[in-house]
Amino acid sequence: MSIKSKLDCPECGAPIYFESNLLLTGQSFSCSNSHCDVSIALTATDKEVVSDAFSKFEQIRNTASSQAG
Ligand SMILES: [Zn+2]
Repeated sequence: MSIKSKLDCPECGAPIYFESNLLLTGQSFSCSNSHCDVSIALTATDKEVVSDAFSKFEQIRNTASSQAG
């Protein structure tokens, strides 16, 4: 599953676009501002938090779709 997402750069406020599944593999993503050298990546601890959040999201989504169906 690939979810494209973005967050605002803490340094310059420009959007940093990332794909959550790639982020989970440890890939880093750079700020879209070429004059800014900020990049985001997950630490091992963050990965556990994020993957936990994603599994909860999947559960919620599955529940929601079964109720809607
Ligand atoms: Zn930036």
